[in-house]
Amino acid sequence: MTDVAASAASPAAAPVGADAAPRRIAVLAGGVGGARFALGLREAAPDADVAIVANVGDDVWLAGVKVCPDLDSLLYALAGVGDTERGWGRAGESERVAAELTAYGVGWPWFTLGDLDLGTHLARTAMLRDGATLTEATARLSARWPLGARLLPVTDDEVPTHVVTDEGVLHFEEWWVRTRAQLPAHRFVQHGVERARITAEARAAIADADVVLVAPSNPVVSIGTILGVPGVRDALATTAAPVVGVSPIIGGRAVRGMAAACLAAIDVAPDALAVGLHHGARSAGGVLDGWLVADEDADAVPALEAAGIRAAAAPLWLTPGGPAAQVARDALALAARIR
Ligand code: GDP
Ligand code: CA
Repeated sequence: MTDVAASAASPAAAPVGADAAPRRIAVLAGGVGGARFALGLREAAPDADVAIVANVGDDVWLAGVKVCPDLDSLLYALAGVGDTERGWGRAGESERVAAELTAYGVGWPWFTLGDLDLGTHLARTAMLRDGATLTEATARLSARWPLGARLLPVTDDEVPTHVVTDEGVLHFEEWWVRTRAQLPAHRFVQHGVERARITAEARAAIADADVVLVAPSNPVVSIGTILGVPGVRDALATTAAPVVGVSPIIGGRAVRGMAAACLAAIDVAPDALAVGLHHGARSAGGVLDGWLVADEDADAVPALEAAGIRAAAAPLWLTPGGPAAQVARDALALAARIR
């Protein structure tokens, strides 16, 4: 880690050593970026109790089943059964059922539900129909594999992200997958969020954590959606743990994805400094104590520090089995300097 800020920090403010191995880690995460980071974290902190507080704004009822894209990306990645080439869904997938659904005109033809993936959605839907909460259903789905982390939907309430466009209001997944985020988004609306609550489990995970990490996930429709759920900002404001985020933007580009289109809708520039300042310093009513930026963005460190956010620069490319674990170690090292 290029510790640009270290020269300014007194030794007393930078405790490392025994403290450097947190026992309980809470992570705020979306789907693919969240999953890649979670894999790295599991490798970097194999003995920690990791709770992943996941976005549910992408969830959608489709062909009679409840689909949770971000929870499923996390589940499949941690279980080692995800399609790493496509970046979503199950490995070795087939689409016989999807072809039948399309023939009946049911569902979205551009949103393929693979057969194995449908098994997950059917199982989840059966559990929900039997009265389970999404948290309980997720725990039961997770029990099938040794994930090395607990998956916690941020809320059990439905808060679908709607996108306001010139062609009307679309569900987030329709805007993202069918229009490839090409249709300009004027606004994102978390439908029903005013009636939603953070779950007791997610709240406890944040309150009891030694470190809270914000994964390099979409800052608007993954992290922003999590932060919009009533109770989340309060949990972050009151936890004794340092809150450290990892920038999803490298060198002014939203790597692997269309996050720039989301940032444009909220008038935030697609750069690491702007996104860090958008989340804001916890000491000034925001959510971050620390923000890890990419080496390419090292020149953002002084401005972040001036805004009350402890910052450092490091390589931030998330490649499973290598750099992702180092990114997690660097995020934990930054947190150790804050604790
Ligand atoms: P989604 O829910 O599947 O869209 O995934 P997330 O919200 O968890 O993450 C998507 C974001 O991850 C993208 O918009 C990128 O900004 C970020 N991302 C993807 N790959 C990388 C990477 O290798 N390094 C970093 N730092 N960020 C990444
Ligand atoms: Ca997502």
